[in-house]
Amino acid sequence: MNPESRIYLDAHATTPLSEEVFDAMKPYFLEKFGNASSKTHSYGWDADLGVETARKQVAHLLQALNKEIYFTSGATESNNLALRGCLNFGSHEKQHVISTHTEHKSSLETLKYLETQKIEVTRLSPDKYGRVSAKDVEAAIRPHTKLVSIIWANNEIGTLNPILEIGNICEAHNVPFHVDACQGLAYLPLDVQKNKISLLSLSAHKMYGPKGIGALFVRQLPQRVSLSPILFGAGHEKGLRPGTLNVPAIVGLGAAAEIAQKNATQDHHKLAEFRDTMLIELLELPFVKLNGHPTLRLPNNLNLTFEGLSSTDLIRNLKNLALSTGSACSSGEMEPSPILKALGLSEEQIACTLRIGLHKFLTEKDCQIATDLIKKAALHLKERSFGS
Ligand code: PMP
Repeated sequence: MNPESRIYLDAHATTPLSEEVFDAMKPYFLEKFGNASSKTHSYGWDADLGVETARKQVAHLLQALNKEIYFTSGATESNNLALRGCLNFGSHEKQHVISTHTEHKSSLETLKYLETQKIEVTRLSPDKYGRVSAKDVEAAIRPHTKLVSIIWANNEIGTLNPILEIGNICEAHNVPFHVDACQGLAYLPLDVQKNKISLLSLSAHKMYGPKGIGALFVRQLPQRVSLSPILFGAGHEKGLRPGTLNVPAIVGLGAAAEIAQKNATQDHHKLAEFRDTMLIELLELPFVKLNGHPTLRLPNNLNLTFEGLSSTDLIRNLKNLALSTGSACSSGEMEPSPILKALGLSEEQIACTLRIGLHKFLTEKDCQIATDLIKKAALHLKERSFGS
């Protein structure tokens, strides 16, 4: 296959690395290779400056304070740290967590673990578009609720949750509010102050940065959220996340955050236009149905069920397109997507579902080529299935 003719449409799994981000990282692999914890020489000081600049860039993206940003290995770790770190394991005190059926696997699996530790978990069901309601969050709050944890933008169907309303409810009930914000970072403004967020998980590789690096925002003001570490070691990141800092990756995360903030509006606009054009054309096929919310969704997401057509067959016939049947984390598994299940799709419909994730380096022409190829392959497979 000619790599030039490939079109990448799997941006929810990971985004391409931006060249600007790569350029910012390069010196930290080479001449600025020091350990950011080395306080006795300029190699360490250079690395530390890179880390602290990145902390400022990430804080700025979220409207947070620098000291509220803790670097982690990615959003999986941030979600684990948020969900596990705010509970008191081994205590006899009753503890309760509220979340949803539409979280990323890293939260869903952590919630299962919490239940093995006698923590009570309420998982809210979404509406037919994959949104949870703030009213349902409020109704689920109990005197011993320790945390509300909600995904901002779903990684499969792109639906956005009402974060501001939920934040206001959590504040009114004095319950910390954790948001998994990975998928929207490059397109949507998220202000932790305005949205009353106490903890926020993010990951660089969903906003054109490197893989294996992320952060957790932990509120300090006006009310400090108290978290326990889940790893033990030397005192990095004020003891909350020990381990030698991955300086080049952190610098990449910072650069990605700064670029995201600068370009969010323009990238949102461009991708939403591409997405809408693709959707209009794909819906011309009478057997195609959109999953997720029609408007309250990520600008770069389409999740489509091709009734009666296996998405695996479709993908097999679209070798030049990088597409996905679901989230990258579950697409190696045979288990049907829990998100689509929560929306009420049957197992057969789930097997006929395709996820398209656009990114900012795509052109209008790329999207047109991809749309034409998908339509052609779908019609061809339909005809073949009628013929057999
Ligand atoms: N949350 C969401 C919404 C995600 O999309 C992902 C990545 N697919 C994660 C968490 C996990 O992030 P990471 O790959 O950085 O561990």
